[in-house]
Amino acid sequence: MSDPRNSHRYKTLRAEYINARKPTAPCALCGKTINLELPGTHPAGPTIEHLVKVHEMQRSTSHWETLVNLCCDTSAWALAHRRCQNRQGAQVVNSRITKKSRW
Ligand SMILES: [Zn+2]
Repeated sequence: MSDPRNSHRYKTLRAEYINARKPTAPCALCGKTINLELPGTHPAGPTIEHLVKVHEMQRSTSHWETLVNLCCDTSAWALAHRRCQNRQGAQVVNSRITKKSRW
C-alpha cells in the first residue's frame, strides 16, 4: 500500500500542525529547539515524528481511509529535526541488519 504521508490530507494537516507551533518547538528526539521557519527539507528543519510508526499502521489495516485516519491522528504526533529523525531511522535499519546477520 502507498504511504499515507503522501496523501493530500496528511500534507495539509502537517503544514497546519507546524504553522500552529511557529516560531519554535522542542525536538522529540534530542530535546533542542527546532526553528519551524526552516523548510522540512533542511537538516535542522521540522519533520513529524510518529509515535506509532507508519509501517506498523500499514500492518494493522489494509483499508486506505483507515490508514490515512491513523496517520492523521495528531495526538500521536511530535516534532523532530530532520537530521535527528534520519539518524533514528538509520539506527533502526542497522539493528535489523544486525539481527538478520545473526541468523
Ligand atoms: Zn533534534
